[in-house]
Amino acid sequence: MELHDQTSLSLQHVLQAQHRMRPFVQQTPLISSGKLNNMYEASIYLKLENLHETGAFKIRGAANKLLSLTTTEKLNGVTTFSTGNHGVAVAYMAQKLGIEATICISNRVPDAKVKRLEAYGAKIIKVGESQDDAAQYCYRLQEEGKTLIEPFDDITVIAGQGTIGLEILDDLPNIDMVIIPTSGGGLFAGIAYVLKSYHKDIEVVGVSMERSAVMYESVRANKPVILKEYDTLADSLLGGIGEYNRYTFSAVKKYIDEFVLVSEEEIKEAMKYMLEEHKQLIEGAAATSIAAILSEKVHVQHKNVAAIITGNNVNISVLRTIL
Ligand SMILES: *Cc1c(COP(=O)(O)O)cnc(C)c1O
Repeated sequence: MELHDQTSLSLQHVLQAQHRMRPFVQQTPLISSGKLNNMYEASIYLKLENLHETGAFKIRGAANKLLSLTTTEKLNGVTTFSTGNHGVAVAYMAQKLGIEATICISNRVPDAKVKRLEAYGAKIIKVGESQDDAAQYCYRLQEEGKTLIEPFDDITVIAGQGTIGLEILDDLPNIDMVIIPTSGGGLFAGIAYVLKSYHKDIEVVGVSMERSAVMYESVRANKPVILKEYDTLADSLLGGIGEYNRYTFSAVKKYIDEFVLVSEEEIKEAMKYMLEEHKQLIEGAAATSIAAILSEKVHVQHKNVAAIITGNNVNISVLRTIL
């Protein structure tokens, strides 16, 4: 990533992130998946980011970002317009650090999501009928002095997600391939940067759902594109990458060895696989990495592979349709 001096990503930055977040973020297990190993004559490991207290890896980026703020910034508070795993991570970390978190949401956000954010002490402001209206309000709060915590296109957030790469190298120094669910690309950028910095031969695979795969289409078009959103089991992978994307788009283009798309049916099978074989409830976005293997869209034979299981934020009605 070519960036300005103080804002360029370095391994030092990721190591610092790891040290800084240690009191707040648990190292997650990397478990072997016996049945996948037998099916594909490979050594396949699952990085269980669904086990964080907030249910997703986003705690890493949020923790690193909030812990990096100046005293004045902390006093002025933070804001975001994410109602998903990023919003929860920001609310959780802000509460831990005694920082005020204001989350701007549209009136259409379901009650269950609002309650989850409020449970972590976030201040909720409801504006308008769309995510865009909520975002606009957030930018106003930013002008008034609050720090906007971006979900992916921020070096400090990317460094936070990159700590997953350090943990994988610790547990599995001879890794050949990593499979990463990809939306805005913060997770991909962080992990890919770390792995490629240590061993440029490690294959880095991105995976998205077939429906509204914005990063995938942007890479193909060689510029950020906007797509209509369709319902998908991988709802945490929905959303744009930003017309003026600064870091993650170029990082994905630079590091990605293979980018695969998986269908709703394949995501469903992968969620079932995790329930049956590992007794783990994971969300659709997280299941895409396993779906990439089960659909045989990535070739894992004789390789040491880590699949990132990104989160567990799935509601009961979706679970019922899976079963
Ligand atoms: C945010 C998220 C992703 C994608 O992360 P990006 O950094 O936006 O690519 C994948 N899975 C889950 C569960 C997420 O919450």
